[in-house]
Amino acid sequence: MTSNSTDAPEWARRRSFAIISHPDAGKTTLTETLLLSAGAIRLAGQVRARGENRRTQSDWMKIEQERGISVSASVMTFEHRGLLFNLLDTPGHEDFSEDTYRTLTAADSAIMVLDAAKGVEPRTLKLVEVCRLRDIPIVTFINKMDREALDPVDLLEDIQDKLALDATPMQWPSGSGKRFKGVLDIATNDLLRFQKPGEDRDPHEPAERVALDGSAIGEVLSAEEADELREGAEVAKELCPPFNRQSFLEGHLTPVFFGSALRGFGVRELLEGLADIIPGPAPVTASSNGNPVEIEPGGKEVAGFVFKVQANMDPNHRDRVAFVRLCSGRFKRGMKLKTEAGKQLTVSSPILFFAQDREIADEAFAGDVMGVPNHGTLRVGDSLSESGKIRFTGIPNFAPEILRRARLADPLKAKHLKKALESLAEEGVTQLFRPTLGGDFIVGAVGALQIDVMRERVAAEYGLEVDFEAAPYETARWIEGDRDKIEAFADRHKSAMAVDINGDPVFLAKSAWEVSYSEEKFPDVSFHRAKERS
Ligand code: GDP
Repeated sequence: MTSNSTDAPEWARRRSFAIISHPDAGKTTLTETLLLSAGAIRLAGQVRARGENRRTQSDWMKIEQERGISVSASVMTFEHRGLLFNLLDTPGHEDFSEDTYRTLTAADSAIMVLDAAKGVEPRTLKLVEVCRLRDIPIVTFINKMDREALDPVDLLEDIQDKLALDATPMQWPSGSGKRFKGVLDIATNDLLRFQKPGEDRDPHEPAERVALDGSAIGEVLSAEEADELREGAEVAKELCPPFNRQSFLEGHLTPVFFGSALRGFGVRELLEGLADIIPGPAPVTASSNGNPVEIEPGGKEVAGFVFKVQANMDPNHRDRVAFVRLCSGRFKRGMKLKTEAGKQLTVSSPILFFAQDREIADEAFAGDVMGVPNHGTLRVGDSLSESGKIRFTGIPNFAPEILRRARLADPLKAKHLKKALESLAEEGVTQLFRPTLGGDFIVGAVGALQIDVMRERVAAEYGLEVDFEAAPYETARWIEGDRDKIEAFADRHKSAMAVDINGDPVFLAKSAWEVSYSEEKFPDVSFHRAKERS
């Protein structure tokens, strides 16, 4: 094989990444501008417009509209410089953190968006922690430079201190807010010029470049501003380590870009940065017949895992789409794939999600995210492969912080309710627990909004009126240990024992205190806050 990139294998062209941020930092705006910069969409407003469109299709999305937040994750594919980018959209709202965490398991890198006036916010911190579980590389975009911002040195220190990540500025801003003149490209010493309000610019185009040491700089910056910028860049070079790709790929260093997503400034440069540095699919450790195996993106066998399931996207058809992240092999339409539990399905109409359209895919490769329509065969966390022997791990369920008892207005519909709740649990919207005693359904969620979404969806999609009333439990823990120890524990806590949707034992605790007390009393039983699908 030559080094010519057109000869590179298909999988090596894939770049799957997610954007993470604290709500309001500008994730949606950046997503839209990135797609515009890549030429994947033409008009501003299309990302949202597309959202509106979907909302009219599905009732539960009314919640999104009413509350003005985005709760459904999806993927958008676009091409730039011969690379195929899969942008995984993560919901920003805190209540949907589980969904976000799982989506991150399908990404090979992440862009962290910070509000320049706020720096690292609590939700950023949590999301970065998740990225670091897998050490995925993080690129930083400091947004809203057109507003008054914190000092850039303070912003970099914030990243280093709060996230324990080395931060390397690829650019240095000249002012902010009304005094924002642009950013210095540290590698070339060119100022990327920010246009004044009112001056329209096309986000397809790179920013105008003016050499900092050339004569034309006087037209953009006053002598004082130019000096200040030179000094700032010097300080940055002294304080921050130089960019090191290896360190970035290992998740220890984040390159930092500055801009304004709303004004389309710095986004094209960010996109070029992504094309230069973010990685394609890497080998993944999985297991086969209980033995660890390294799944190579160039490997022969088609294998991947389900990180999200979305049901009833179209209420007229009880469709379900499982989002599968492929990790190896060359997938061909019509292929038969098996789950590790031995369920087989023929994937006859796999979907690829281009920014404007969905397309039936004839082929897909490692690094791709493919939608697989199915009738409930696939669940979040399932592994899919040709042999059915490969099992991917690391897709978590989190201990719910809200537990509710589902109570039907019409008790004769219990069977329907079971089906609806199971289906939503399989999608990962909420969790479902069946207490060992009694016939109640206990649903669990990490955030209150999940319960609202569930109520709406159970009504809209299954025609059931359900009350989710307070349950006498505050939290849940998956328990693990030798069988006799588990039985001894269960015996003492009959009224607090339940099983989850996979039949695994769960302890429903009345309080966090009860959990610690039980941990002390039953040292041979382990209590888990998160469970990996097995
Ligand atoms: P998300 O919650 O992270 O998806 O944030 P949005 O993209 O919805 O942005 C939140 C708010 O910040 C919106 O009112 C945006 O118009 C605004 N915003 C986003 N980017 C910028 C920016 O670069 N400059 C300014 N001034 N406002 C921005």
